[in-house]
Amino acid sequence: MSTFRFAPSPTGRLHLGNARTLLLNALLARREGGRFLLRLDDTDRARVREEYVDAIRDDLAWLGLTPDGEARQSERSALYEAAFERLQAEGRLYPAYETEAELDRARKLARASGRPPLYDRAALRLTPERRASLEAEGRRPHWRFRLSGGRVAWEDGVRGRQEIDLGSLSDPVIRRDDGSFLYVFTSVVDDADMGVTAVVRGEDHVANTAVQLDLFAALGAVPPAFAHHNLLTSAEGDGLSKRSGALALATLRDEGVEALAVAAYATLIGSAEAVRPVAGLDELSGLLDLRRLSRAPARVDMAELRALSEKTLHALPFAAVSPRLEAAGVGGGAAFWDVVRGNLTSLSEAARWWAIATDDGFAAPPAAPDDAPTLEQAARLLPPAPWDEATWKAWTGAVSAATGAKGRALFQPLRLALTGAPHGPELARLLPFIGPARARRRLDKAVAG
Ligand code: GLU
Repeated sequence: MSTFRFAPSPTGRLHLGNARTLLLNALLARREGGRFLLRLDDTDRARVREEYVDAIRDDLAWLGLTPDGEARQSERSALYEAAFERLQAEGRLYPAYETEAELDRARKLARASGRPPLYDRAALRLTPERRASLEAEGRRPHWRFRLSGGRVAWEDGVRGRQEIDLGSLSDPVIRRDDGSFLYVFTSVVDDADMGVTAVVRGEDHVANTAVQLDLFAALGAVPPAFAHHNLLTSAEGDGLSKRSGALALATLRDEGVEALAVAAYATLIGSAEAVRPVAGLDELSGLLDLRRLSRAPARVDMAELRALSEKTLHALPFAAVSPRLEAAGVGGGAAFWDVVRGNLTSLSEAARWWAIATDDGFAAPPAAPDDAPTLEQAARLLPPAPWDEATWKAWTGAVSAATGAKGRALFQPLRLALTGAPHGPELARLLPFIGPARARRRLDKAVAG
């Protein structure tokens, strides 16, 4: 069975770019009937915050994605320790003592003299005496993995055949001097242990993949298939980061953007497939094809996302929204939803229309003096209950016959008096929810001013 995973570091809120990685993995798992795991890469103790862990879970739930399992790297150190010992026993690890400042200086020096800023493996040449004296100074080692050299190649699910010369990369640090492990290593141990068969992630990880394939080989493990998707950028073309607050999923949710639209947008943008509304995640998973992702970064266009959200909302059946309508105090069942949905830019506006339709205290604004006679006649000619969708036509026909008012001159004053707004849902369908008593009060009020 195929196994996918989404592996965020809980060091910030998820943004639309993270959602792309999340959706690609979750939807492929869904389509293949495989497993989809949530793995929290929380080994960086200084930056991880528990509130971000909760936020990640909330974001997944909002998008309608339920992982088949969850793991936290902070709870798996025994596994990393064992893998570390194995690599050590095989002579693939070496301690190094350089400080960040020293490494930085060496990188600058290399650049200045036209060499690539690679780690020069100086620590491999330390004599036991030199090591002892560094430790006597109080330095603690961090640990590097000795890359095997040569070229690694893989068939990338998005980019096709990839080949990277390991000689062009620095030996990665896999353990910090405080004993904690780094993602590039823990991820390999976890992917092997959890039987992950496919990793879809951003193309900023391409070089990591070369390193990690070498780590899989050193650990005698079968690597997953890798695919690296193009990244999303802001409208200005900047990469998204934990600081891209405006494109955080939580922000979009608070602004009333539909979850299904976010899912469709994050999946379809930057691909040969047109961005379009979908009825659900199953339909979306059917549209997904990694080979049709483009290679260039894709710019997020908020206007496009909002338009998609509106279209998505308008098409949602009552069953898909009824818990949210209930939570917002909107009654009227499927009938009311069908009346208002086409006029909403976000679901929260349904509550405003429900109040407009059913609030007994709703006061119509005073009518323009020219409209008063029409509204007076309209109040007089209100049909008796019960009202249905045919009532509007019969009523306005009678008002027109009595006053001579027609078209806009008839409908606009009625709409303003009944709803307080110049635009809105079709009045013929809204009117039965307003009902005779409220309609009479509103017309009287509009005339009286
Ligand atoms: N924690 C890593 C990240 O957020 C995971 C990358 C991966 O999928 O391997 O970038």
